[in-house]
Amino acid sequence: MRAGIYVHIPFCPGKCRYCSFNSVPYDDQAAKLYVDALVREIETCPVDVEPSIIYIGGGTPTTLPADGLASVIGAINGRFGLWNEPTGHKSGDIVPPEFTIEANPGTVSGLDVKALTALGVNRVSLGAQSFSPSELAMLGRLHGPADVAHAAGTLRRGGITNISLDLIYSLPGQDMRSWKESLAQTVDLNPEHISMYDLTLEEGTPLYSEVRAGRLVMPPEPVQVEMYLCAVDFLETAGYRRYEISNFARPGFACRHNINYWDCGEYLGFGAGAHSYAGGRRTKNIDGITYYTAAAGAGGPSLAESEELSPGDMEREFIMLGLRKAAGLEFAEFRRRFGHDLAESRREAIARLEGAGLVETSGGRLRLTMSGVLVSNAVIRELF
Ligand code: SF4
Repeated sequence: MRAGIYVHIPFCPGKCRYCSFNSVPYDDQAAKLYVDALVREIETCPVDVEPSIIYIGGGTPTTLPADGLASVIGAINGRFGLWNEPTGHKSGDIVPPEFTIEANPGTVSGLDVKALTALGVNRVSLGAQSFSPSELAMLGRLHGPADVAHAAGTLRRGGITNISLDLIYSLPGQDMRSWKESLAQTVDLNPEHISMYDLTLEEGTPLYSEVRAGRLVMPPEPVQVEMYLCAVDFLETAGYRRYEISNFARPGFACRHNINYWDCGEYLGFGAGAHSYAGGRRTKNIDGITYYTAAAGAGGPSLAESEELSPGDMEREFIMLGLRKAAGLEFAEFRRRFGHDLAESRREAIARLEGAGLVETSGGRLRLTMSGVLVSNAVIRELF
């Protein structure tokens, strides 16, 4: 079975003020125990897969010392083998899978990038988020704008030829001028891939409390929409193709890890809170880092949740994830998977949405128009 592999490293240099991810500030002892548990979970994985994509995310995986990262990658290689993917072009050709690691711009200067590439890493996703010093400070990021350029240079010199930068918009106090400036500085660094997300205020975070208390003010909704549309226009003019609602890439550099997810492909997740999806079953590991470490480190089960998806669940997931892609979902693939015709079973909803200019059908596919992208959740609900 071919599948993606995701590994979660939950440590970060600090905690950003908007962060509700499963992450904690780095601690040497906790990290050592965590790596041991993770290696054990990987080595004892009962499922055999041929890894088509590897993604080490977090957290900030690059907070781990080099030997910790090498142990994790060594465990993946030992259990699954990283170099088995045939290209399909010439018999016997071998190409490595896309192998991404997430990094914080402030953690790249201490990295031995050549050692990472020797271990198979060929793509780095950098959390730039903004190029405004005041916005970065408000977000609680520990890096400044210059660190992003510095990190990108270090990665290039170390042999990384596929860099992705993440940006966040709709920030409190952000205006069109500062957003355009962040976009321009991003493009100046010439990354192969760019992701941009609007800020989601998560309850329990310091930023949420400050916005609720009125000390920080989010841009009004029409400005948030203008920021999105301006970014699409700017990035497409700069040669990036929007291949998903929030993701842009130079030709040939769309992220295969993301695409596997939106195509409802199978993947195995390792580490605290990691999700897996295989054989129609979705599972989730224990979230709590200490609990996960104790359970997996003792060789015990690390699963917290396991759910068999019904055919209806799988259909809805296929629609929801497929419509996130700019290319949309393919009617023939839907029929192949579910044995009936989406255009028939949702005929009225599709006609209504098409009439409202929110979706379009052509070339055997159903996709969101740009007006549909702006209200994507509502459109997708109509098709459920
Ligand atoms: S770097 Fe990412 S995961 Fe870590 S604290 Fe900041 S937002 Fe959270």
